[in-house]
Amino acid sequence: MNANQDKIKALGLCSGGLDSILAALVLQKQGIHVEWICFETPFFFSDKAKKAAQITGISLTVKDITETYLEMLRDPNCGYGKNMNPCMDCHALMFKMAGEIMFKRGCHFLFSGEVLGQRPMSQTRNALKYVEKHSGMKGYILRPLSAQKLDETIPEQKGWVDRQKLMDIAGRGRKRQIGLAAEFGITQYPAPAGGCLLTDKDYCRRLKDLLDHKKNVSANELTLLRYGRHFRTLSRVKIIVGRTQQDNKNIYKYHDPESETIMTVANHPSPAVLVSGGANPGELYLAAAICAGYSKMPDKLTVEVRATSKKGSDILRVLPVKPSEVKHLLV
Ligand code: SF4
Repeated sequence: MNANQDKIKALGLCSGGLDSILAALVLQKQGIHVEWICFETPFFFSDKAKKAAQITGISLTVKDITETYLEMLRDPNCGYGKNMNPCMDCHALMFKMAGEIMFKRGCHFLFSGEVLGQRPMSQTRNALKYVEKHSGMKGYILRPLSAQKLDETIPEQKGWVDRQKLMDIAGRGRKRQIGLAAEFGITQYPAPAGGCLLTDKDYCRRLKDLLDHKKNVSANELTLLRYGRHFRTLSRVKIIVGRTQQDNKNIYKYHDPESETIMTVANHPSPAVLVSGGANPGELYLAAAICAGYSKMPDKLTVEVRATSKKGSDILRVLPVKPSEVKHLLV
């Protein structure tokens, strides 16, 4: 081992799962200084990584990469997995961005908790190689849990890391990791990482619809895809109807008051309804009728719906439209 060992610094991509934690601890045990980076977008979050940082005391930086991520997501080189998950290009992008931070911080290499063969698409030998090549970080990405099964990396060749003390875990089993966790005295750790919305069928259907209809989408619009019922009128306006109180709160919280309209039935409980910008009067009336329809008002009575936008507040008088009559507009 090299005499400068105490100065070797590694930056790890952290998802917050047990494998991320173990990869860091395996390196730490060799005396390497480790720190973590976690990228977040409206599709995946940093809560588990934060928990892992708390458990281990490893310093964590969280960085929002929504804008750059969206560019890749619209047209990933390797395409998508089962839904809209561009796992290979997602990893490549994350390592690329982590690489930039690594150089800025004077870290020597990158690492992750990836395990060869653990995920059918993104953790095959070829997938790991693809990520190295397309991240521009070839040779600088160490996977401590599977290192002995993979080609030697620069940190191993240079003696910054002792390859003999790295692991040779492969495959989907968890036994080795659980044993290793016990050795490190890790008894508490976040549930397996996951929860990426790009693997969720319903979310992705709405996401595709949004990306098909809009060039520049905001983080709030992406967040709102998780809540309520979504309708798309024939002329491309989006209407979101809250399904629960929480949905209603989120509609208020994430809507854009500069361009969007919020509707509720006046003087009667109703869902919050969001109408995207650019709606014409006909579409505003349709949204109001949908709002009335979902508020269980008698369908033969005229209902007053309050529409609030940047221009102020207006009352629209409409006959409720039954949910079954607008089913065909559901996204
Ligand atoms: S599951 Fe989501 S976060 Fe994970 S690699 Fe795939 S796209 Fe990226």
